[in-house]
Amino acid sequence: MALLELRDVAARYGPVRALDGVSLAVDQGQIVAVLGANGAGKTTTLRSISGTVRRSGQLLFDGKPLGRRGPEAIARLGVAHVPEGRGTFAELSVEENLRLGAYVRRGGSIDGDVARVSEYFPWIGSRLGQHAGTLSGGEQQMLALARALMSHPRMLLLDEPSLGLAPLVTREIFRIVSELNEKEGLTVLVVEQNAAIALEVASYAYVLEVGKVAVSGPSEELARNETVRKSYLGY
Ligand code: ATP
Repeated sequence: MALLELRDVAARYGPVRALDGVSLAVDQGQIVAVLGANGAGKTTTLRSISGTVRRSGQLLFDGKPLGRRGPEAIARLGVAHVPEGRGTFAELSVEENLRLGAYVRRGGSIDGDVARVSEYFPWIGSRLGQHAGTLSGGEQQMLALARALMSHPRMLLLDEPSLGLAPLVTREIFRIVSELNEKEGLTVLVVEQNAAIALEVASYAYVLEVGKVAVSGPSEELARNETVRKSYLGY
């Protein structure tokens, strides 16, 4: 059974129709990519899942309808959203950012979790007191990921992690996402402009075009299909 399923989801910003009947599914333990050009509706797809935009249609998490649940209730179900632009608090320290990430979960040791996430991001342990705003772009993206992990999510929604980052840093971030998926079984839905790297890491992908799914399929098939690559993925 899919951990997440969207059936015919639509969303608009005032007169702008951003999603026009999107259906997709993400299985437990899977990494799935959402690709597409600027303005195709990728970010809005993630927002519709985390409850940060008004939407219609059916959204099922673990087989249960999300219904009218808002962002906090959805986060408590185990959905962690790392938004585009990261959403770390520049004025707060690395440690304070991590502690905020633990806000929605129940029980467990926060210190233990700081140690746990530091295994994936070894630099974090020695930089706990540093203001997040003074971290490099790549470090901020890693902090945003680490903060999301503090809530012990069942599913990670990751919005364009490569934004503004050098190719090597992007690669390192995707390597860590794969490691989290393999070691912790973390389920990931990732939005990316960089289709090539997303298709390497995800097992399945959906390509959006003006608010609809234009093509979908196993990543290997999409990457092999020259027409799909040229028409939709731009490489
Ligand atoms: P990008 O890769 O540029 O981030 P995207 O695929 O993530 O694009 P969305 O951000 O989901 O696309 O936007 C889908 C559509 O909704 C676009 O036409 C966009 O202009 C519009 N839109 C997004 N946010 C708003 C908003 N807050 N108010 C009005 N229109 C919006």
